[in-house]
Amino acid sequence: MKIVMLGAPGAGKGTQAKRIAEKYGIPHVSTGDIFRANIKNGTALGKEAKSYMDAGKLVPDDLTVRILLDRVSEPDCEKGYVLDGFPRTIPQAEVLDRELKKAGEKIDFAIDVEVPDENIIDRMGGRRGCPKCGASYHLKYIPPKKEGTCDVCGTELVLRDDDKPETVKKRLDVYHEQTQPLIDFYSGQGVLKKVDGTVDPEVVFSAITDILG
Ligand code: AMP
Repeated sequence: MKIVMLGAPGAGKGTQAKRIAEKYGIPHVSTGDIFRANIKNGTALGKEAKSYMDAGKLVPDDLTVRILLDRVSEPDCEKGYVLDGFPRTIPQAEVLDRELKKAGEKIDFAIDVEVPDENIIDRMGGRRGCPKCGASYHLKYIPPKKEGTCDVCGTELVLRDDDKPETVKKRLDVYHEQTQPLIDFYSGQGVLKKVDGTVDPEVVFSAITDILG
């Protein structure tokens, strides 16, 4: 099963993608996580990506597509995957489509997690992530058991640079301009499914599993 998660930054795609990956036994592939891992390890790719990410901009398509195609060609992706944060532009979706077609495959579901802009601003300020293991939390919606500390590995949680308020507005503008058109793209392929992302994450997940079966 190949799944694409759509929705604004902060809509909860990442949280849902992780749960889907766990339930259906497929890898969670997040281009944002791949970039962050590269930044942490000080790679050339990380250095290039960071300048765009910190400015709330998209990393250029050629670079992003290359790392995504590399990742999905690994053996654990053979039985499917859930893509989180990719594609983010029509050209990215087109390349993915073309590569899948070559292999006689396609995206089975594009799940749009719908959340209005007003809610997004409130949510992103509350997001916290673990810089060590990548677990994500929200002060209000998914609080860690112990304040400020990762449940999984005990590391101190941080607000991502790109979740800072000045960057959030820019990321929302970029989302509307470049990523929202993907809703029509996947709707045209007959694979688009919408879920209400404003409700409790458990309820969102149950709506998603109703769709995926
Ligand atoms: P995310 O964790 O998905 O919110 O991604 C964080 C940042 O990484 C984004 O704001 C972009 O700067 C960059 N990024 C992640 N995925 C992509 C993508 N598919 N295309 C371009 N930039 C991306």
